[in-house]
Amino acid sequence: MSFSSLGLSEPLLRAVAEQQYAKPYPIQQEAIPVILVGRDVLGIAKTGSGKTASFVLPILELFHRTRSAKTKGVSVLVLVPTRELAAQVAEVFQTLGAALPKPVKTVAVFGGVSINPQMVAVHGADIVVATLGRLLELLSVNALRLSKVEILVLDEADKMLELGFAEEMDAIFDQLPTKRQTVLFSATLGDAIQDIRENLLRDPVKIEV
Ligand code: AMP
Repeated sequence: MSFSSLGLSEPLLRAVAEQQYAKPYPIQQEAIPVILVGRDVLGIAKTGSGKTASFVLPILELFHRTRSAKTKGVSVLVLVPTRELAAQVAEVFQTLGAALPKPVKTVAVFGGVSINPQMVAVHGADIVVATLGRLLELLSVNALRLSKVEILVLDEADKMLELGFAEEMDAIFDQLPTKRQTVLFSATLGDAIQDIRENLLRDPVKIEV
């Protein structure tokens, strides 16, 4: 199994080669083709499994394929539990996305730092990687809108719930278009994740590694 057989095109194949990813990890083998065809995903995977690239690569591939048709506005929202993860995930989008002929703007927003530079940075962003509290703050001052979001990713959803962010999550979901693709990753599959699955995912493909 190679990255090229998963449906990624030249620029991204070069990007993974540059990262010295010799071949796709199991989660990538399963998730990449499913995300590319637009299906929802329920992924049970831990840190270290390669889960980040398993959603970053197909999302960038979709940008590459459909870029000219895209309307302006945030089209991908990635929600994460911690600021460290926000910065990490945004960096993977930026590093792999740098290979694309048309630039994709990814911005990380998270709390614990001044909001002002983030208010400026989100302007014109295609992809926003966010922690929940800061995203709600930015929404409350109209620094960005979620009405054009086509893909929602919940990374480490179990951890977001563990940290007590259920209400914030609901407040954000309320602002998203109902017609969208949703990709959820969690290390575990507890009752709370099952609830989210029922409320948020539409006929998801379950992937467990
Ligand atoms: P993650 O589980 O997304 O945090 O990824 C864990 C680590 O694996 C990161 O350092 C990635 O750069 C690395 N990685 C992801 N996919 C591959 C791959 N296919 N081959 C080698 N390393 C990878």
